[in-house]
Order: sequence, then structure tokens, then C-alpha cells
Amino acid sequence: MAAAGTMLGTTAVQIFSDQDDVVYATYRWIEFYHHESCGKCTPCREGNYWMGQILHRILSGQGTHEDLDTLLDSCDNLLGRSFCALGDGATSPVTSSIQYFKQDYLDYIEGRKPPMFSPADHSMVGAH
Ligand code: SF4
Repeated sequence: MAAAGTMLGTTAVQIFSDQDDVVYATYRWIEFYHHESCGKCTPCREGNYWMGQILHRILSGQGTHEDLDTLLDSCDNLLGRSFCALGDGATSPVTSSIQYFKQDYLDYIEGRKPPMFSPADHSMVGAH
């Protein structure tokens, strides 16, 4: 798996259709990691919180191109700097989704896709 550029992780498998929203899926992943973080180490505790905030901003139609750099910088500061594998694991959905589905992020940032959330809160404003 490493030779193929991936890993088995917890060996849990998630299957998505080509209709699923990659940015939203990544946001849900990071919300999971943020919830599960025990808070012992700063990069995991803060990194997941802030990545969730940025992903929510993008899904709210208020993201910027710089947000993608900030997400990747956050992953750089998290990967290899956490005590357990949860911190490292949180970076994979962010880095791989930006690597393989950057256009999906840009569609939200550049207004080609309607916002999923109201900026004021976490309520969904459309069916996705
Ligand atoms: S990386 Fe592990 S030990 Fe560190 S805060 Fe996250 S869950 Fe806790």
C-alpha cells in the first residue's frame, strides 16, 4: 500500500459515489478527528479545530485561495508532530482531497457551487 502511495489506516473502508461532495466529506472527516482528539498535543488539538473551521468557511462560500495553502500548512504542522496516529491520520483526507480534487474546492471558493452552509452557523442551506 505504501508503494502505491497510500496506507491501510484502520482498515475501515468508506465508499463514495461520484455524486458525493469531496469537500463536505473531508469536512466531516476532520470534524470526526476533532471530536476524537484527546487534546494531549497541540498540533492535533488545534490543527483539527482550525482545519474544521476553514473547511466550514469554504463550504459556506467564504473561502479563499489562501485557505488551501493554510490547510496544507496545517497538515505539515500536524504530520509527524503528534503522539499517536490519530493526528497523522487526520492529514490524509485533507492533503489527498486537495491533491486529487482541488477543483471541487475551487468551485466553492470561486462561486461555481452554491454554499452548503449558512456562514452564521452550521445549518445546511441546500440539499447535497
Ligand atoms: S495525536 Fe493522539 S495523543 Fe495527540 S491530541 Fe491527538 S488523539 Fe491525543
